[in-house]
Amino acid sequence: MQQLTVQQKLEILADAAKYDASCASSGAKRANNGKGVGHTDGTGICHSYTPDGRCVSLLKILLTNFCTYDCVFCVNRVSSDIQRARFTPEEVVNLTLDFYKRNYIEGLFLSSGIIQSPDYTMEQLIQVAKLLRTVHHFGGYIHLKTIPGADERLVAQAGKWADRLSANIELPTQQDLVQLAPEKKSTIIEGTMGQILAHSDEAKEASIRSHLPRHMLPKFAPAGQSTQMVVGATATTDREIIQRAGALYGNYKLRRIYYTGFSPYPEADARLPLKAAPLMREHRLYQADWLMRYYGFAPDEITSEANPELSLEEDPKTSWAKAHPEFFPVDVNVAPRESLLRVPGIGYRNVERILNIRRYHRLSIEDLRKLNVRVKHVAAWITAADHLPTSPLVSASPLPSPTAQLDLFAAASALSGAL
Ligand code: SF4
Repeated sequence: MQQLTVQQKLEILADAAKYDASCASSGAKRANNGKGVGHTDGTGICHSYTPDGRCVSLLKILLTNFCTYDCVFCVNRVSSDIQRARFTPEEVVNLTLDFYKRNYIEGLFLSSGIIQSPDYTMEQLIQVAKLLRTVHHFGGYIHLKTIPGADERLVAQAGKWADRLSANIELPTQQDLVQLAPEKKSTIIEGTMGQILAHSDEAKEASIRSHLPRHMLPKFAPAGQSTQMVVGATATTDREIIQRAGALYGNYKLRRIYYTGFSPYPEADARLPLKAAPLMREHRLYQADWLMRYYGFAPDEITSEANPELSLEEDPKTSWAKAHPEFFPVDVNVAPRESLLRVPGIGYRNVERILNIRRYHRLSIEDLRKLNVRVKHVAAWITAADHLPTSPLVSASPLPSPTAQLDLFAAASALSGAL
């Protein structure tokens, strides 16, 4: 096999890591024409957020894109005909330190295909983090991908060195996994999430009981855990996806769920849809996710049995408002926080501002305008000191029309067994 240089491996393994959305954004691709300043490569550096809200740049790479599993939707699966590469743990350590010293990055996001076994792969990932922390006293951010099914002892070690851990749920339901990721089981993935949560809770309790100084307190993945879900590779509805997400947040206290819209690739398996999931669908799922995490919506409220898909035309909060005219108008001067949070066009930061301001005086439409609230958008849903809604929008709005996401699939889909 051809020997690759570290630079060649970096090109392959940074590019392969871009499909993993569980670590926020990857960079844009923009080359300067030799006259300007700055050049982005599109891969390799991504951004994430620390527990105190700082945005950090991370070197985002795979340890290897070899994988013994055959997840149909994944470009790194064993049956995929792609160029393979593998870093040694020392190579990843040196790259991280080199990029860090040159001020390109503030941390590392490290994932991997599964080689030999989940335990062996996990050991390799841990080795990188351990070397960085113990030999080089690296104080930057480390996000490690946890390999589901790895021994609990290894999960415990990973959390000792990493700031964040993530175990990818991959697809929304166990049935989806059976079809497209036969080696993966949701019980095993959730088992690993449960272990991460248990170790994290243990470390928090130990810190509360401990009298050690702050820097010596036991820590376990202080930036918590996240996961990633590919959407649009199966016919699973948004309702099922949102309910699954709600259960994962509730059961494992995840910080984030990242959604990646499926996009087809050449010579893809016949079980996959022919078209990419609309980018807007991914966006709507993120909006629905925010409604659950910050706006007090239960998963069940965001879609209905009768209309299980999110509208691609309007945001899910507006859809909910249109379906619940009995809830409106909301009086911005007396309504509780929970009600204000449900007004389309008022974000959670502005809800806090409104609650503060109205302690001193009654809010008018002009006050809302000063808060950068899009008055035209919210006027139909609220009353204010100088405003009563007159628009028939609230009571006469139709329910959001069903979307047609099943068009993504061939008329006779192998996924539905109808071939
Ligand atoms: S285990 Fe991960 S890397 Fe391997 S084929 Fe499945 S999704 Fe891809």
